[in-house]
Amino acid sequence: MKSLLVFCISLCGLSIASAQSNQECATINNQEWFNKIRASIQPNLALPVKRQLSTIPYQIHFFRASDGSSNLTLAEIYNEIDSVNQFYSNSDMVFVECLSPQIIDDDFYNAFDYNTHHADVLSQFYTEEVVNMYFYGSVNFNGSPVCGYSQYPPSEDYVMMSANCATNGSTLAHELGHLFGLPHTHGGTPDELADGSNCATEGDYICDTPADPTLGTSTVDTNCVYTGTATDANGMPYAPDPSNIMSYSRKKCRNYFSPMQYDVINYTYLNERYYLTCSVTSDGLNNHDEKGFSIAPNPGIEDMNIVINTLAYHPKVLFMDISGKMVHTLNLSNTLTQLNTAAWPSGMYFYLLTNDIGKIVSGKYIKQ
Ligand SMILES: [Zn+2]
Repeated sequence: MKSLLVFCISLCGLSIASAQSNQECATINNQEWFNKIRASIQPNLALPVKRQLSTIPYQIHFFRASDGSSNLTLAEIYNEIDSVNQFYSNSDMVFVECLSPQIIDDDFYNAFDYNTHHADVLSQFYTEEVVNMYFYGSVNFNGSPVCGYSQYPPSEDYVMMSANCATNGSTLAHELGHLFGLPHTHGGTPDELADGSNCATEGDYICDTPADPTLGTSTVDTNCVYTGTATDANGMPYAPDPSNIMSYSRKKCRNYFSPMQYDVINYTYLNERYYLTCSVTSDGLNNHDEKGFSIAPNPGIEDMNIVINTLAYHPKVLFMDISGKMVHTLNLSNTLTQLNTAAWPSGMYFYLLTNDIGKIVSGKYIKQ
């Protein structure tokens, strides 16, 4: 994999650099992975997928200047991950912090450069079997500033993020999209036809995303409307979707993954990154021991009793509705906490017990 990466960087550097003037993404095309989507993943997308809610463990590695300064705060990073979780709940995945953030105050790393720092960072500041989310003051790739990058599977589990783009509402979700298998909507080649007739074999190989001639600020206006005039090989005008998170549209316009993109994310997790797990066992909460935690009655009408047997590491419970929207966050400071849910609409909710060092119990709560 490494040799392929190095090979591709030397060949693909120019095209990547030329596309980055507006600080885009430097995730490198991986034809082997694209072939896999085309040959085996895409044909299976029509199959019913049996899913269960999966928790994806992550760790933040937060690089700041040597004096501790940064344009980012940890709170802003957590907020962004909350918003990522709203997107990824449609893939039945929830990113959950497994280990406390690693904070490194060092000017050398904070001005991250791919050629200088990539291998160094992955050898020194990397946790196996969790998604490593790296945040830097800036990220440079082959001489150009970029928003960030990740890597298609199989690879190490990481996203690299520049502070400039880390909290714009879409870039973190975009880079995680690559980690979980999604190509750009413009794909590796500009050969997808506007009528979608070759959608399974060209572009991003995903048929419910329209053909995309590669968007940018010159072809998407500030109202998020596509204004380009590009035509395909048949002379047909493109009608791309500027809201797709995997496009190069304006960052603020990107707020949509398609149903098939959600299927690819879930498929990639289950088949390529299934080993992600939080194996920290330094206290009872990390043994997936649900006996130390309960929510009752469940199903419930309004008064919920939350019982937990240890208050170590600041436990908290998060409640999300089935669209992934966070409806309530509760810090647990007593072993018995009562929560009134009378105002919640009836339906199913997901809950997640987390703490400063991670995992956690997750489950469903039915509000009657
Ligand atoms: Zn990208």
